[in-house]
Amino acid sequence: MANNDSDGDELESLRLQIRGITLEIMKKAHERMELARQVGRVKGRLGRDIKDEKAEQEVRLMVIREAQAMGMSSEFALRLLNMLLGESEAVQAAGMAQMAPSSITATNDDKKKSSQKKMTHLAVFQKAKQMEAQGIKIIHLEVGEPDYSAPASAGLALASSYAQGRYHYTDTRGIPQLRIAIANRAGVKDEARVMVTPGGRFAVFAAIAGLLRPGDELITIEPAWPAYRECADFIGARTKVLRTSIESGWTPDLRELESMINSATKMIALNYPNNPTGKVLDRKTMDAIVALARDRGLYLLSDEVYADYAFRPFTSALEYDYDRAIVVSSFSKTYAMTGFRVGYAVASADSIKKMARVQAAGVTSVAEPVQLAALAALAEDPSHNVELMKGRLKFLSARLKEMSLRFVEPDGAMYAYPQLPSGGGEMIIQDDMDLVEKLLEKGVAIAPGSGFGDSYKKFVRISACRPEKEMEEGLAAMAAVLGKKEAP
Ligand code: PLP
Repeated sequence: MANNDSDGDELESLRLQIRGITLEIMKKAHERMELARQVGRVKGRLGRDIKDEKAEQEVRLMVIREAQAMGMSSEFALRLLNMLLGESEAVQAAGMAQMAPSSITATNDDKKKSSQKKMTHLAVFQKAKQMEAQGIKIIHLEVGEPDYSAPASAGLALASSYAQGRYHYTDTRGIPQLRIAIANRAGVKDEARVMVTPGGRFAVFAAIAGLLRPGDELITIEPAWPAYRECADFIGARTKVLRTSIESGWTPDLRELESMINSATKMIALNYPNNPTGKVLDRKTMDAIVALARDRGLYLLSDEVYADYAFRPFTSALEYDYDRAIVVSSFSKTYAMTGFRVGYAVASADSIKKMARVQAAGVTSVAEPVQLAALAALAEDPSHNVELMKGRLKFLSARLKEMSLRFVEPDGAMYAYPQLPSGGGEMIIQDDMDLVEKLLEKGVAIAPGSGFGDSYKKFVRISACRPEKEMEEGLAAMAAVLGKKEAP
């Protein structure tokens, strides 16, 4: 009894101390945010970007050093830091926004640039759709949506699902027949390794939300489809960006990749064949990335929705039998089934279990009729679509060459990613958004390069999802806006 009393006292005393420390942490976090607000104002006056990777890396190294010195888990310390950094960026942005315009000592051009809202290809698509609703004709070269038809068998399966009474909730991971068919196609033996998702996009979200925690780090290789970063932001994970360049043929620097990994790093996201560049990694590079992920125990999220549109040998992450690989695929691109919203993930049964919790919480399952349509599509041969896209990409590349634009010929996917010409006296185009807006006025929609990474304001993405005649018309308008003479 006496012992119980003294333990009770000790517990109370410990709780009191914990409360005190919690308050101190709160006060310090508040002070830190106030300083961040001031940093935002100063950066605004200096015309600097909010994100400063060098400063971030310095504080990160300090935290690792100090955590180790005090015997604290550096993984936990970095997760805490990453949460503070995320909040700090939001507060700095607010600090910048509070500044009176008169206190900004930037040039008019800078002001124009900073006031310009960054747009993704989807935002351009929405704007183009609004214009269409007003009766304006638009040539859609901004969106990755094939114009050819979904397989007729998919439509028939959809229609007959009603007569068969197949319109019920299913296993969160999908109906067994479809998961078995996908497992066979992917060359894995166990359908417990497969989950059918509402599009490849949700497979990406389920992987990031199901496998990462707030404060964990994810590495993306840009330019890339922006969803990896968006999903990480959404769950409070932090994105580190490995930039690639047109000069290196969009090849990632593996030493740099390795140097970005620390104890908070949990996942590398790969996007090959790449959207927007069309780059396909060679086998050696893929071997090295998988070896690095394996060595450091990292998840490898390999988004392979364009794998069927690879026009040089493509190595899937599935070929490595790595238990932390998650491969994402989709019916959208191969079978032109974007609006069906069906894709899938193949991973270890354990990863699939964690991802299925996200899917169960968010959507229960993919609609059963849609799963039946996907099952029918899987039996079809998509080579006609693949050949069509290959021809269109060839056509697009030839036209961009005639326009003397610099770009790396795509190895796959459905896009080209040319660089804007760097100037000359008569150049009227400042950056990607400038060209996007000027072309939209002429009824041609293209995607701004910066939607695929902040460093790519001098690039645009042209989609090859429309017939050659339309691409021709759109590119002629682009050539005219760029002030380029077309070859005779
Ligand atoms: N992954 C990449 C790389 C994409 O470019 C896209 C769409 O553009 C998707 C996934 C989304 O596919 P889904 O329609 O299956 O969600």
